[in-house]
Amino acid sequence: MINLNLTLLICFLLFFTYLGLGTYTISRNPRSVLNRIFFAITLGSAIWVGAYSCVFITYLPDQWILFWFRVSSFGWIFLAPLVVHFALVLIGRDKFIEKWKLVLLYLPAVVEIILVFIVIHPDSLIETSKFITTGLTNTRLHWFWPIHILYFCSYSIAMFIMVAKWGRNSVFIREKKQARIIVGSELLVLLTLIIEYIILPIFGFSLPWIVMLVGLVWAGAILYAITKYKLMDLYKVLSSHDILTKVTDMVLLLDRTGHVMMANKKACEILGYSKDELLHMSLMKIIPDEELRHTVIPNQGDLIMESEVYCQTSKGELIPIKAYFASIVDNLRDIVGILVIGQDLSLTKQLEYKIEEKNQIELALRESEAKFRNIYENAHDLIYMHDLNGRFLSVNKAAVNTLHVVVPEQRQMVIDMFNQQVIENQPVYYELTVMNRHGEKFDLDVSRQLIFETPEAVIYQCIARDITERKQMEEKLRYLSMHDAMTGLYNRAYFTEELKRLENGRFEPVSIILCDLDYLKNINDTYGHTAGDETIITAAQLIKSCFRSNDVVARFGGDEFAIVVPISSETVCRALADKIRTAVAEHNKLSPFVIGISIGYAVRSNIQYSVQDVLKQADQAMYADKANRRVLRI
Ligand code: GH3
Ligand code: MG
Repeated sequence: MINLNLTLLICFLLFFTYLGLGTYTISRNPRSVLNRIFFAITLGSAIWVGAYSCVFITYLPDQWILFWFRVSSFGWIFLAPLVVHFALVLIGRDKFIEKWKLVLLYLPAVVEIILVFIVIHPDSLIETSKFITTGLTNTRLHWFWPIHILYFCSYSIAMFIMVAKWGRNSVFIREKKQARIIVGSELLVLLTLIIEYIILPIFGFSLPWIVMLVGLVWAGAILYAITKYKLMDLYKVLSSHDILTKVTDMVLLLDRTGHVMMANKKACEILGYSKDELLHMSLMKIIPDEELRHTVIPNQGDLIMESEVYCQTSKGELIPIKAYFASIVDNLRDIVGILVIGQDLSLTKQLEYKIEEKNQIELALRESEAKFRNIYENAHDLIYMHDLNGRFLSVNKAAVNTLHVVVPEQRQMVIDMFNQQVIENQPVYYELTVMNRHGEKFDLDVSRQLIFETPEAVIYQCIARDITERKQMEEKLRYLSMHDAMTGLYNRAYFTEELKRLENGRFEPVSIILCDLDYLKNINDTYGHTAGDETIITAAQLIKSCFRSNDVVARFGGDEFAIVVPISSETVCRALADKIRTAVAEHNKLSPFVIGISIGYAVRSNIQYSVQDVLKQADQAMYADKANRRVLRI
């Protein structure tokens, strides 16, 4: 009896303690689902111990005992699913807390309540009270109790395993500690059940209130976890606060009307406002985008959106931000706020712009390089680079076709110029004759400049124009300007120049021999102009054959030839005139066309006479010879 009275007293005390715990927890945050379940657990425990205490009032009639017993059953039967439900919410296994799964969770409890009402009637109360006092070892015990113990233990073990696993897998030390406390207290509950209902009855001993007391320890442990390790909603807020201050992104928490409730340090940094200035500021002021208002601030429904927006700073600058918007919903799926996480894209944009700019420049460079390469490759002029030793470093097509080696006679000149240019570092222009690999010669007009010079490397860049044709043309023109086209002898202009050259007296005595064909008019008239031409050509060859190759033999007029003989005496002139006559006579012997040439010569015996005077004398001599030949009818 004393025992039972003590049990009664303990039960009463526990009743109020449970209620107090529950009320305290729910008052901290009535919106928290976890707090609500915890409150239900403490309420269930209070009903259990409160109603149970009535069972122990022995003088109560059986019906009342049964009534209180049935009331208490709501407490101890629903404790098991409530505890599992609590664990599921705590560890965030949201997919297990959907409606029909919860029905499954609570269904065994409902069945057991029904069983209590059917099975436990006044007659079986004796057995019930025996169970309470002697546990499972009582052989006459009703089958209901082992089933209840099994049901309760399996739910407790499920909760135990879930929380233990959650704690082990969590990366947060805080969660690990929470799991340890809860698991420890749960273990204590299970041990107590075994001791009270299996071990103690073996020794015929019973402490019915001990289970209720341990239940209180369990609840107390959870409360301890609340206050000490900020369990339930609080720890989440705290850990998220840590994250918010540490993240390098801007974080804004808006209320459902789009006004700032919280801003982190980075948000203040980016936007240029203080935390107080940002508080209650409209999102529209921060992101002035009317369209966004309709998307981001809806009245209901989940929102998860990512968008590139421009945020306006306190100075009015617009900063590109990659923003992530997410609605925060309560457990009734009502939007309670909006989370905005923004990443500053200014640097990224700048970088993108720089990269784009660089790409553009590179493209332009490539295009321009291709253009210049095209010009370089296909240029008509030769473009090439070579080093100090004349080794080619790069050549364009024109250079490949033309350039192989410098003709031997110009090599030394070129090497000397290389060195000279290194000293003077001035562009040089020169003409050069080169040979290609087939041995063909080309004349080049080269412009060369030093483009790079270090002690190790000297690079010359050359642009050369093939002037072979021009050179040949020049040569031809020069020849034509000096020679008579028909006979190939020097022309009168050249001869006159030569006379001027000899005027200064360095080649004294200077002699001039003049020849004139006889009766050419007659030949022209009789045999035609071509025959006349041929006669002139034959006469030219005959005269030319009488002189050395470097003597100046010229066609002086239509059928007139002049030869200037430097450093020669009258004897020499006479011999030369005779040589011409002999050659003509020899020719006439063999040819049907007889050629007659009158010859006159004069020697400058005195330097006071001009060369023109000598020419006149030679002319007179020639006419004298012609007249003489007429007389002699040669
Ligand atoms: P002479 O014996 O006095 O020298 O009389 P000629 O007929 O030779 O006449 P002359 O020397 O006084 O004049 C030269 C003539 O030669 C005039 C012209 O008809 C002819 N002649 C001049 N140049 C050419 C030419 O290039 N070809 C031809 N076929 N005849 C020419
Ligand atoms: Mg003549």
